[in-house]
Amino acid sequence: MKTILVTGGAGYIGSHTVLLLLEKGFDVIVIDNFINSNEESLRRVEELAGKKVKLYSYDCCNEKDFEKVFAENHIDAVIHFAGLKAVGESVALPLRYYENNLISTINLLNLMGKYEVYNLAFSSSATVYGDPKSVPIYEDFDLHVFNPYGRTKLMIEDILRDISHINPKFNIALLRYFNPIGAHPSGRIGENPNGIPNNLVPYITQVAVGKLAELGVFGNDYPTPDGTCIRDYIHVCDLAEGHILALNKLFSGCGLVTYNLGTGNGYSVLEVLHAMEKAVGKPIPYKFKPRRPGDIPACYASPLKAYQELGFKAKYSIEDMARDAWNWQKKNPNGYEQ
Ligand code: NAD
Ligand code: UDP
Repeated sequence: MKTILVTGGAGYIGSHTVLLLLEKGFDVIVIDNFINSNEESLRRVEELAGKKVKLYSYDCCNEKDFEKVFAENHIDAVIHFAGLKAVGESVALPLRYYENNLISTINLLNLMGKYEVYNLAFSSSATVYGDPKSVPIYEDFDLHVFNPYGRTKLMIEDILRDISHINPKFNIALLRYFNPIGAHPSGRIGENPNGIPNNLVPYITQVAVGKLAELGVFGNDYPTPDGTCIRDYIHVCDLAEGHILALNKLFSGCGLVTYNLGTGNGYSVLEVLHAMEKAVGKPIPYKFKPRRPGDIPACYASPLKAYQELGFKAKYSIEDMARDAWNWQKKNPNGYEQ
């Protein structure tokens, strides 16, 4: 059975992917410094899977520590989730973002070269498309980034394209996620934001559970049917499945490949709010607020390439996503902190 190293495996997308990897029979090693996560997520993943994860509580920016993971294990492929991801924070603290996201990745790539591990799936983001010329967004669209977080994603994509040019042994999947939401249907693992959430769905669930007073809807004058922004929300368990399919592609010897991981459906902020109200069973108070700087009117994927080349197709509907996001929040009002 193959062994997968998952960087950032205790985080939101990482924990759901680690669970699926274990369920599919992979052996899993996680490296995470818990800068934005909690060891409890992995404890619950092990409980759900009935299998253990080999955990290294290290910072990927510390190359000496990181090397122990490669020296002590035979690794077949790496899924690289580790990174800081808050756009607003990246504007305030750009160096922290460049340092963490770039150095961790450069260390990873040096070690993969040294230990001859040539299969890598990288967490990129739809943010690399900037304000796209049209929707749906295809993988060959121009890339533009507007903030330090986005720049780290594009820089890493560029580094990986450079590496693939000079070393054809590398198989690399650049996976551009759209908007992951929801949680494992068990309600045991989910998204656990620090402090006040920046993202729409965790904000709504915290209003619904009574931790926050009301949702601010950022802008109702966009050129969309109801005036609020449109995004491609994808269930985190569908996203996890996309990684398993990407691994199969890597193991087939694919060189560098790039895929959107989205559903292809766009939902407005108000549509998401109404789906959440249905799941919760009561109205969720909200107020229109000014536009949030940097937001674009509409962003949704063409999921065609991932379907044709990976067999990837999102299974969960917006109602499923709302149900599972609420199930997680109501069972864990304080996330992993009891
Ligand atoms: P997350 O913050 O929940 O998970 C990231 C994990 O990486 C955390 O467990 C954190 O502790 C760990 N980490 C960060 N820096 C580290 C370091 N130097 N060494 C070791 N561990 C480190 O985020 P997530 O939502 O699960 O996102 C995973 C990846 O997907 C990130 O790279 C993110 O940029 C990308 N992504 C996320 C979204 C989203 O909306 N959630 C969208 C597009 C792309
Ligand atoms: N949004 C909102 N109120 C919030 C958080 C988000 O109206 O408290 C909107 C935001 O303007 C965007 C959409 O919800 O149009 C999705 O935002 P999120 O931050 O979740 O993801 P993004 O697409 O920005 O990565």
